[in-house]
Amino acid sequence: MAGQTNAEGAIDAAIPKTARVVVIGGGAVGCSVLYHLADMGWTDCVLLEKNELTSGSTWHAAGNCPNFVGSWTMMKIQSYSTALYRRLGELVDYPMNYHVTGAIRLAHSRQRMEEFRHVESMGRQMGVELHEVSNDEMKALYPFLETHDLYGGQWDPLDGDIDPAQLTQALAKGARNKGAKIIRFCPVTGVTRVGDEWALTTPKGTIRAEFVVNAAGYRAAELGRMFGRDVPCVSLAHQYLITEPIAELTARDQKLPLLRDPDSSYYLRQEKDGLLLGPYEKNCRAHWLDADDPMPDDFSFQLYNDDLERLEWYIEDACARVPILGTAGITRVVNGPIPYTPDGLPLIGPMPGVPNAFEACVFTFGIVQAGGAGRLLAELIVEGETEADSWAVDPRRFTDHVDLAYTTAKAIETYSHEYAMHFPQIQWPAGRNAKQSPLYGRLADAGAAFGSYGGWERADWFPAADADCRPADSYDRQHWFDAVGRECRHVAEHVGVLELTGFSRFRVTGTGAGNWLAEQVTGNLPRVGRIGLVYFASPRGRVLSEMTATRFADNDFLLMTGAGAHWHDRDLLNSRLPDDGSVTIDDVTADLATVLITGPKAPALLADAAGLATDAAAFPWLSHKTITIGGVDMLAVRVSFAGESGWELHMAMDDLVTVYDAVMAAGAPHQIAHFGMLALDSMRLEKGYRSWKSDLTSDYTMLESGLGRWVNFDKATFVGRAALQAEFQAGWGRDFITLVLDDPDDDGPFGEAVYLSSVYIDGVVAGLVVSAGYGHRVGASIAMAVVDRDAVAKAQDISVLVLGRQRRARLIDGGVLYDPSNSKLKA
Ligand SMILES: Cc1cc2nc3c(=O)[nH]c(=O)nc-3n(C[C@H](O)[C@H](O)[C@H](O)COP(=O)(O)OP(=O)(O)OC[C@H]3O[C@@H](n4cnc5c(N)ncnc54)[C@H](O)[C@@H]3O)c2cc1C
Repeated sequence: MAGQTNAEGAIDAAIPKTARVVVIGGGAVGCSVLYHLADMGWTDCVLLEKNELTSGSTWHAAGNCPNFVGSWTMMKIQSYSTALYRRLGELVDYPMNYHVTGAIRLAHSRQRMEEFRHVESMGRQMGVELHEVSNDEMKALYPFLETHDLYGGQWDPLDGDIDPAQLTQALAKGARNKGAKIIRFCPVTGVTRVGDEWALTTPKGTIRAEFVVNAAGYRAAELGRMFGRDVPCVSLAHQYLITEPIAELTARDQKLPLLRDPDSSYYLRQEKDGLLLGPYEKNCRAHWLDADDPMPDDFSFQLYNDDLERLEWYIEDACARVPILGTAGITRVVNGPIPYTPDGLPLIGPMPGVPNAFEACVFTFGIVQAGGAGRLLAELIVEGETEADSWAVDPRRFTDHVDLAYTTAKAIETYSHEYAMHFPQIQWPAGRNAKQSPLYGRLADAGAAFGSYGGWERADWFPAADADCRPADSYDRQHWFDAVGRECRHVAEHVGVLELTGFSRFRVTGTGAGNWLAEQVTGNLPRVGRIGLVYFASPRGRVLSEMTATRFADNDFLLMTGAGAHWHDRDLLNSRLPDDGSVTIDDVTADLATVLITGPKAPALLADAAGLATDAAAFPWLSHKTITIGGVDMLAVRVSFAGESGWELHMAMDDLVTVYDAVMAAGAPHQIAHFGMLALDSMRLEKGYRSWKSDLTSDYTMLESGLGRWVNFDKATFVGRAALQAEFQAGWGRDFITLVLDDPDDDGPFGEAVYLSSVYIDGVVAGLVVSAGYGHRVGASIAMAVVDRDAVAKAQDISVLVLGRQRRARLIDGGVLYDPSNSKLKA
């Protein structure tokens, strides 16, 4: 078939019969994936584009490229992109318009400034320089700015705007230069699995591929359905307007910096001699949701109708901030489809449940993220794992409760909070009650304030009847602090009950189950009748997953893991299953519910409720038994994430209420009381227990994560063994530590992975806080951190930067603040 000439005069290749990788979609992201695959030496790759390159969302994007972003993963992605874009033109010999103007971000309040300081501290760890600027400095950088009511701002010297079409063509050229092929006007219309390959149907013929990538932008859900996958994607209408030339700008010989006013929720930048204003408005509009508003078969190079009414407030606000804006008429409005996932972050990674298929789609900021996303996905395909942990963008983070209604509700909420501050523990209201256990009503009656965990509603805390229940509203200690403290102390003195339904569970059986599992995990499996923590490492020895293994027989295990880990761990286990049928994995997540009873009176309570001996000899720590409470048989496992004596009770979902009622009745003489997830988090910090994807990530190896005692080099084989052994012999670079901040009234780094602060050792940046909060039983502000091993060994003075304030910190030997000998757990 003859090739077609593209805009640059290059000839499109004829469609080949096979390719190692087929990337579907030729926007900025698809072209970046292709470029990076080719750059890593995989040149037998083909990109198929339905229309012309850039014809989706890319052609009309404003092209802003910030480094600032509140997520560690996204900052890595964006800062890689901006560094690449600065040299891309030269690398591929395709000059581009990339104006690195710098950008100012305005703060209207102390809290906004704290957010800036936090992001600045995060950026410093990866070489991204952001600086605080005063009102006078902002005025010097941006003479037309009204500053009288501002708290100050932040300066990103490497922010700017790029021409998105040129960027895409440059990436495409770079890919072609290295031998990859691009075929335009070639929509994928059907997908079949043939043996170990994918067969993709197009009007130009069928192409077979070992790997495929869905990079179809706002059409990602349509393409996903061909693979039997429901991609969580909703198209929202995002608008910007461009003004006529403004005399003051024409007179300048330097382009103005970009301006973002996150508190008013808009960006404003110079476009030629005019201004370009783009708000994230409160009442945004979703499109293409149902039969009344179907997605057209082709929307290439098209826009929605203008809808400036929605933006009125923002235009007025921006005109007051930069009065020259109000002096010019509007020449153009761009209202285009911007795809959103429920949390506003893209999908970059394996397509859940589908072999050898990947996603790089649903990008809200796909221009600035294309570079880093392309590299990340190419690494994943070529090397099987990535240098940096990418859970924040992993498609498997959204599980079975995420349907179109949920995605739409969350996407609209996220859009209108695009510039909002993500305070630790904040839970926004949309998309709630996706999964309720039968106990929900009982807990609501008991006054629970709920949070969402992998879609499941769990009690976060139990406010008094007249208490203030608003969501988190600052980085400061929150209004629930005292109530959570009371819950922790009650658990420590008496006994508490917490429903933990939502654990992901996999039953592993078959004649080869024991041997197979032993080769998957880094450490030992528990003996029959016992339970234990098991860790799954990557071939490079990085931490992939942590599960609790309960062993019923030599070849019969129940693996339990977090609610959010469901699809990640399911795919991890299935991807390693042997072909010989000797191991079977059953996903039993939906069948079972869990209640935790814990505290010094838990043994007496359980003895009363189940009529059995529960002392340390009869029912030792880390053992399990089948017991009966209220006429219901269940699995009781002696373990407690709270670090007190306790049991997890696992029963059929239908029996949950019966068991709960029986436990509460038996617990009344022992002063049983409810506690919530916030108290559990405080207590696990005191015990030094780590949390998956907050403290335990694939950024670090097992040894760097302080999990050396779960690595058994005496085993002949396990995944990651060679890498870990080499690292063990050479010495590992980082250590996992626990710190106590010297000021007990300041829990600055409060919260989990979202909250990362620099750890300074002897004045040098040495690592980062991965999780922190207040330990109510020990009365201390605790921070867990991963730091440079040599630096910490020599450290005289350790401090943590808390929202721009330097706080002295004390290293806790052994990392456990509460009951380091585990005597309470085992009692
Ligand atoms: C008004 C507006 C302003 C924006 N401003 C910015 C900004 O300043 N900075 C920023 O970073 N982002 C911005 N964005 C977002 C940005 O436009 C997108 O995130 C980005 O373009 C997404 O790129 P993509 O490659 O993922 O998708 P797209 O550009 O949509 O590309 C997907 C491609 O897949 C093709 N395709 C679909 N289905 C098939 C199929 N079955 N077979 C073959 N091909 C198929 C489509 O034709 C399309 O070309 C803005 C968006 C809007 C609406």
